[in-house]
Amino acid sequence: MSDQRAEDPLVIRSLEFIGGMAKAGGWRPEPSLPEIAFAGRSNVGKSSLLNRLVRRKAFARVSRTPGRTRELNFFRVNDDMVLVDLPGYGYARISKERKADWKPLIEGYLGSSPALRGVVQLLDVRREPTEDDLDMLDFLAELGAPTVVVVTKTDKLTRTAAAARVRELATALGLDEEQIISFSAVTGAGRDELAAAIQSLVAQPSWRET
Ligand code: GDP
Repeated sequence: MSDQRAEDPLVIRSLEFIGGMAKAGGWRPEPSLPEIAFAGRSNVGKSSLLNRLVRRKAFARVSRTPGRTRELNFFRVNDDMVLVDLPGYGYARISKERKADWKPLIEGYLGSSPALRGVVQLLDVRREPTEDDLDMLDFLAELGAPTVVVVTKTDKLTRTAAAARVRELATALGLDEEQIISFSAVTGAGRDELAAAIQSLVAQPSWRET
């Protein structure tokens, strides 16, 4: 156990909710620490992934409290980075008008935050990427933002079937398989790989400055 601890790429020493951004151009924390944003459709497993990542059972619960589900929620980790939980988008039951809400908020933040170092884009292993997922990936590619794609809920398939799905998704999205992290919030698979990917994004200067 202690050996594994020593090799944890992201040891959480402190974790603090610092606030939410409710509308485009609204309040946001001072952009003094590197920011990593997490994007995905509602129900993709984003809260579960965040809880696993920081090893707290109910960490992402704050993002689910009434009034916060459609905000960008900022969490400071170890006084050296800020995790930004973007609102889950594209829920099937949400009307077209609702959909119009999240785009300016999410894209406004991603398009302007001077502290943003990268985006973790989540996709469900058992689902085809939606139009919203593809829009999001296109938006990130246009922006030039470093993006890590994480395929969630891989425990729902056998190891072989999950690996085959990752290959299919890589082909469909025009990515290398190595650019995709397989993740399960149930087993913890992929947690350390994701933590290491985040650390390397944080260690790079902002792509906006280059
Ligand atoms: P969010 O809406 O993206 O924050 O998604 P949640 O984290 O709330 O997860 C949505 C549903 O998927 C919940 O019922 C979770 O228990 C389930 N879920 C999330 N991650 C996993 C996973 O890795 N494996 C399995 N089997 N279920 C998961």
